[in-house]
Amino acid sequence: MSSSPARVLAALNAVRPPDQPSPVIGRAVVVGGSVAGLLAARVLSDYAESVVIVDRDDPHVTGGRPGVPQGSQLHALLPGGFLQLERLFPGFRERAVAQGAIEAPPAARRNYLDGRLKVVVPDDADSLAGTRPLLEGLIREQVLRLPNVKTVTARATGLVCDGGVVTGVHCEAGGATGVESGDLVVDAMGRSSRLSEWLEQAGWDRPALRRMTVDLNYATALFRRREAAPEATVVLALHTARMSSDVAGAAFFAREDGRWMAMMAGYGANRPGRTADDFVRRLREQFPPEFGALAANEMLGEVQTYRHADSRRRDFHGLRRLPAGLVSVGDAVASFNPVYGQGMTAAALHAACLSAYLRSGPDLGAPARRFFALQKVVVDVAWSMSTSADLALPHVDGPYPRGYRLSSWASRQIVSATVTDVPTARRFNEVVSMLAHPSSLATPGVLLGALRANRRAR
Ligand SMILES: Cc1cc2nc3c(=O)[nH]c(=O)nc-3n(C[C@H](O)[C@H](O)[C@H](O)COP(=O)(O)OP(=O)(O)OC[C@H]3O[C@@H](n4cnc5c(N)ncnc54)[C@H](O)[C@@H]3O)c2cc1C
Repeated sequence: MSSSPARVLAALNAVRPPDQPSPVIGRAVVVGGSVAGLLAARVLSDYAESVVIVDRDDPHVTGGRPGVPQGSQLHALLPGGFLQLERLFPGFRERAVAQGAIEAPPAARRNYLDGRLKVVVPDDADSLAGTRPLLEGLIREQVLRLPNVKTVTARATGLVCDGGVVTGVHCEAGGATGVESGDLVVDAMGRSSRLSEWLEQAGWDRPALRRMTVDLNYATALFRRREAAPEATVVLALHTARMSSDVAGAAFFAREDGRWMAMMAGYGANRPGRTADDFVRRLREQFPPEFGALAANEMLGEVQTYRHADSRRRDFHGLRRLPAGLVSVGDAVASFNPVYGQGMTAAALHAACLSAYLRSGPDLGAPARRFFALQKVVVDVAWSMSTSADLALPHVDGPYPRGYRLSSWASRQIVSATVTDVPTARRFNEVVSMLAHPSSLATPGVLLGALRANRRAR
């Protein structure tokens, strides 16, 4: 690939569905019907005669489901992901709002860093607030409306290969076994995907697995919401290591069912908010007054906790031996510290990679190396942002990349300037939203602007 990663990311962010479907594949099989699988299926509906989504959960079950245990936790949709959804499903915003999703334009989002309220970037991209099941349900509804997409409720158990080509997956449902055949198989089985084992069983290499321990403890609670149309619908507060707090951050969002959903996170041995009393006390004592006001509302139900051990990526792009007819998307390829809210936006960009790859008229009898090369750019972006922030955590001990001390000093300056300086905050938000490459922050102009802003703020 000759273009710079920044250009590739910009091109992926600009990918649009073709005006007319132009099939280059007969049948595509997507294993996993969550956000990444559904978005891949949406893209494939333009390039395949037919698409089948295989998931072990019944697609018609609404709300929480066993295949996505994280679904009950707070999920933020980054503005970058929201833009992609609007492009794939024109009118997504109106439909979402009609089903209760809450508008979250820049003025309705409050962002605190170490207790200081950040400036609002007036022209920042838009977003929505709501539950993860609402968002996933909306995406599913629109994908399943496509005439050439169908679903099969079954557990995939292995690959079917013919020489150097993957030709389908083995499936099992209610004791019966079968095969779903296709010209392209998409692994969207999430972070516990078994594709690596399946490749090895079929005589191929498994991709290198990289992990960074984050040891994150999440706690989520629901509160009654009195205001039908609150002024702020998405409120986030992050603590850096300087705060010497055992709570790394908290957030609360308006939900479609007239409630607030609040989250609190800590690392390592810090498990804040496990009981209702602890949750409420910490919101009051460790966060800006808006959090205290939230905590004054009635808590509904129990606090739900979740533990997230590590960020991990599987480097399919580095495999020397790879069968044709196979790609992998979403958390199955890379899943990150959820505090940064990157997962669904990264999945949308993986779908854009699939679109760009299929539009380029690839030789489908050869491994999808071009797809994995595009996807590597997206994974590198999300990985570098989440792991470089995590390296600053006291309990994380590397591996530190070369030049880490200098780059972490520079990023502290930039992050600090986002509190007061609109141009720095605008650039930073674009990067955090995955709309712009992190290299756009690594310029002398940005650093000088941040240093000046920090001096003014002092
Ligand atoms: C606590 C937490 C909070 C998060 N918060 C955010 C956030 O704020 N914003 C954000 O963008 N992202 C967030 N994420 C990440 C987000 O949940 C994922 O990135 C997103 O769901 C996309 O994942 P996926 O579709 O790749 O996999 P998953 O959502 O994990 O889905 C995998 C699917 O594969 C199916 N499956 C698995 N194995 C098989 C099999 N053998 N056969 C058939 N089907 C199978 C499962 O049933 C499931 O439907 C968070 C994650 C966690 C853990």
